[in-house]
Order: sequence, then C-alpha cells, then structure tokens
Amino acid sequence: MVKEKGHLIVISGPSGVGKGTLIKIIFKNIPNLSYSVSVTTRKPRKEEREGVDYFFVDEGTFKKYIEEHKFAEWAMVHGDYKGTLISTINETLTDGKDLILEIDVQGALEIKNKYPEGIFIFIAPPSWEKLEERLRGRSTEDEQNLKKRLNDARCEMEYKKYYDYVVVNDELEKAARKLEAIIVSERDKCKKSQNSL
Ligand code: ADP
Ligand code: 5GP
Repeated sequence: MVKEKGHLIVISGPSGVGKGTLIKIIFKNIPNLSYSVSVTTRKPRKEEREGVDYFFVDEGTFKKYIEEHKFAEWAMVHGDYKGTLISTINETLTDGKDLILEIDVQGALEIKNKYPEGIFIFIAPPSWEKLEERLRGRSTEDEQNLKKRLNDARCEMEYKKYYDYVVVNDELEKAARKLEAIIVSERDKCKKSQNSL
C-alpha cells in the first residue's frame, strides 16, 4: 500500500511571540509530527544544540548551499541567513509525517508558491507591550538585536493576511489548544476528501 503523504504546516510570527513554546506543547499532544531543523548563520545560543535547534554554518557554507539549490526557501532574518532544506521536506512528507516549518514571513510566502497545499498559520501577540515583555524576558538578544526584532515585528504583522489561520497567543494553554485544533481538523479534512473519492 502506498503511504499517505504528510502535511506541510508553516508557522510564522514575530520573534518572541511564543512560536517555539507553542510548538513544544503541541509536539507533546499530537502524534506523527516532525520539526524542520533549519540551517542558519546565526551563532548558537547557550542552550541550543546542533542538528536539534538548527544546523549552524558559516556564511560561506550557507552561500554554497544556495548555489547547490539545497533550499526550498531561504531568507535574511533579523540579520542572519536562515533556510529550509528541500531534503527535509521531501523525506518527511514521503515518510507520511506532518512537518512543522517555523519560518519567517518571507520564507512562508516562498513555500506558499512552491507548496500551495500547505497549511499556513500566523501566531500574533496580544499586544506590542506583551511582545516586548516576552522578548526581553527571554534574555537571548542584546539590546541592538532586540530592537531590530521589535522593529521587524511591525512589518511582519502586515503579512498575516496571507495566512490561512491567525492564532493570538494570549493565554498559552488556550493558544496551544487552538493550534492543535487547527492541525487535527486539517488532518480530518484530508482524510474525508480521500474517503469520498
Ligand atoms: P518565539 O519562538 O516566537 O521567538 P518563544 O517561544 O521563545 O518565542 O517565547 C518567547 C518568551 O515568551 C519565552 O520566554 C516564553 O516562555 C514566553 N511566552 C510564550 N508564550 C507565552 C504566553 N502565552 N504568555 C506568557 N509568556 C509566554
Ligand atoms: P531565532 O533567531 O529567534 O531562532 O529565529 C528568528 C526567526 O527566524 C523566527 O521568526 C523564525 O521563524 C525564523 N526562521 C527560523 N528558521 C527559518 C528558516 O529556515 N527560514 C526562514 N525564512 N526563517 C526562519
């Protein structure tokens, strides 16, 4: 029997809005999900691990990957290169698993062009104040990079109209339930349409 292909689930939103936190919760509750580990030129944070959070490379290597057409999408995000490997998408979807891409708005539009059947979800902050509070509270960025991320957030919010769903991350558990409901209902939709053929 041919394995049913997995879904591509794209999650975007401003830095510090809570994407990573929400994704960790849904991974505990939804089976058969996989996370796309991106390639980046950003320096690893203290707790980040190679091959788990990112594949950390230098700029030369990243540019070589671009020339070798290894990326499904790539972008300069808050001053660093970041990209999604085509091999990750192909291998995971063929294996019948749903793949989460946590990528910025530029990358998401590129993916939408190439994989229009994907599910596109934007995570929005309840307010600018809360976004800044969360980003500062995470203590991962220096002041200059933090300001850049908050400034970029204004522009990123303009892109939410291109997404299928917008989830406001106000109360964490409520937002996680909404995200889970979207994924589960999209999976059901697909099953129903296959059964009706
Ligand atoms: P992102 O992955 O979008 O950059 P994170 O998941 O790292 O954001 O979250 C940024 C910070 O905000 C973290 O310290 C996290 O614990 C906190 N956070 C996430 N969601 C909420 C929420 N709903 N309420 C309060 N704090 C939150
Ligand atoms: P951080 O530096 O905090 O890990 O991530 C900052 C931003 O980079 C996040 O908004 C995240 O979605 C985005 N990002 C992470 N990986 C990729 C990727 O492979 N491609 C693109 N376009 N953006 C990414």
